[in-house]
Amino acid sequence: MSLDLAVIRAQFPALHQQVNGEPLVYLDNAASSQVCRASIEAVRTFEEQDKSNVHRGVHTLAQRATSAMEAGREQVARFLGARSSDEIVFTRGTTEAINLVAGTLGQSFVEGDEVLITHMEHHSNIVPWQLLARQRGIVLKVAPIDDRGVLDLAALVGLIGPRTRLVSVVQTSNTLGTRNPVAEIVRAAHDAGVPVLLDGAQAAPHEAVDVAALGCDFYAFSGHKVCGPTGIGVLYGRRELLAELPPWQGGGDMIERVSFQGTTFAEPPARFEAGTPNISGIIGLGAACDYLRGVGFDAIAQWEAELLDAATQVLQAVPGLRMIGTAPDKASVCSFVLEGAPAADIGTLLDMQGVAVRAGHHCTEPLMERLGVPATARASFAFYNTMDDVEALGRGLHKVRKILG
Ligand code: PMP
Repeated sequence: MSLDLAVIRAQFPALHQQVNGEPLVYLDNAASSQVCRASIEAVRTFEEQDKSNVHRGVHTLAQRATSAMEAGREQVARFLGARSSDEIVFTRGTTEAINLVAGTLGQSFVEGDEVLITHMEHHSNIVPWQLLARQRGIVLKVAPIDDRGVLDLAALVGLIGPRTRLVSVVQTSNTLGTRNPVAEIVRAAHDAGVPVLLDGAQAAPHEAVDVAALGCDFYAFSGHKVCGPTGIGVLYGRRELLAELPPWQGGGDMIERVSFQGTTFAEPPARFEAGTPNISGIIGLGAACDYLRGVGFDAIAQWEAELLDAATQVLQAVPGLRMIGTAPDKASVCSFVLEGAPAADIGTLLDMQGVAVRAGHHCTEPLMERLGVPATARASFAFYNTMDDVEALGRGLHKVRKILG
């Protein structure tokens, strides 16, 4: 079940380059993974041979484009364990998927209704609800976390009340790596008759997702984090729930019939996909999903756990370094601060050694405030990273330590 890293790395052209005179060590996977060859080639085939608009065409290229795009929807449905590809709505990414739920389900919320999130959400699962709070007077409730970055599940369950209309939580934190107990959250919310949206942006790249088994009502993730293209993402919605939602954006493809007297709308998923979709993105995402399933999430999870263990040890050996996010159940994300070294400087000095990490608030400002740090440096690992990458990070940080004193 172990991974052949040479074979895997050969599937990622961007990994094989020098940056600042050093071999690239790419540890910014939580922001964006590299794209696999299968995805690049699927996009190229479409652009070179099948490029046409979808759905309305009778000619051969239009039919080819339509079948390739709908095959992409099937591939994504399999990737998520959805019962039907009709449950897969294409968006620009996780952010747009969450906004779609806020802009449809949210339109039925009234003043005093509550949306429950956690303290470790990405801004994209905070701000859409704040906009809804402004428009409709809803109230945002926030479940607390402890100093390690572990969600207080009992407190979250206790915050589910008669006015809760949606529980919307991150499955895996992009800043901390914390994996939340989403099955328990779904169970507790459903016991109270409340639907659940899972932000799977950081889970989908690392573990097999099974939305049917999880029972969640909505699931969002982004193509660019699962070895696919940018500008494409997914909202999974449980079929019965999608069928009840009003349209979001208006335009072509989302209608059944249009007249000036009144317009009727298409069934999901078309109802939520106004305008020409990101056809090449969908095709590239489908190929990436199939590629990841082919590698196998058991092997991916096992290797990433080894990388996480090794990286944690290497980091803890750097004088003055403090890990931010020490939950017992973590994905391969390592955030840290280094005494006397601003996170941005760490990022720049590592880049000079070819090591790519991210520095900043990672779009989780309320979380940073809760943990009392303005910013962290973050090394995030994918299954194509090696133990040499871990060592390069360690060497790089010892050098940073020397430079900054
Ligand atoms: N949620 C989480 C947990 C994320 O890590 C990200 C991306 N950093 C997003 C949402 C937003 O994803 P996107 O920018 O692809 O819409």
